[in-house]
Amino acid sequence: MAKHRQKNKAVAKEIAYERITYLFDVAGREYADSPERSNRYVSLAKRIGMRYRVSLPQELKRKMCKGCGSFLSPGSNCRVRLKNGRLTITCMNCNRVQRYLLEGGRAESKESPTNENRS
Ligand SMILES: [Zn+2]
Repeated sequence: MAKHRQKNKAVAKEIAYERITYLFDVAGREYADSPERSNRYVSLAKRIGMRYRVSLPQELKRKMCKGCGSFLSPGSNCRVRLKNGRLTITCMNCNRVQRYLLEGGRAESKESPTNENRS
């Protein structure tokens, strides 16, 4: 019985991945209504990720605080800054700072990095 699992595992990962993406999506949409619910969604997504050993895509990792596990909504509970090609996200719940190196290393252009910085 054990040997047939290999393929199922791959499928399970795919499903897990889809669920995670979906959960983050919903978390983003529900945040305005209920931040707590969003937090629950992302913690669920994290758990799914650990269970199936799929790592969250970077863009989703950025939406979640590593310190307190909150869903991070730019302009609401986190601050997003772009500096020298580095993305800095500060969680306003626990003040944890997460830094990400953007692809391409240094950002040479001075075009304003108004990613998700709507207010
Ligand atoms: Zn936090």
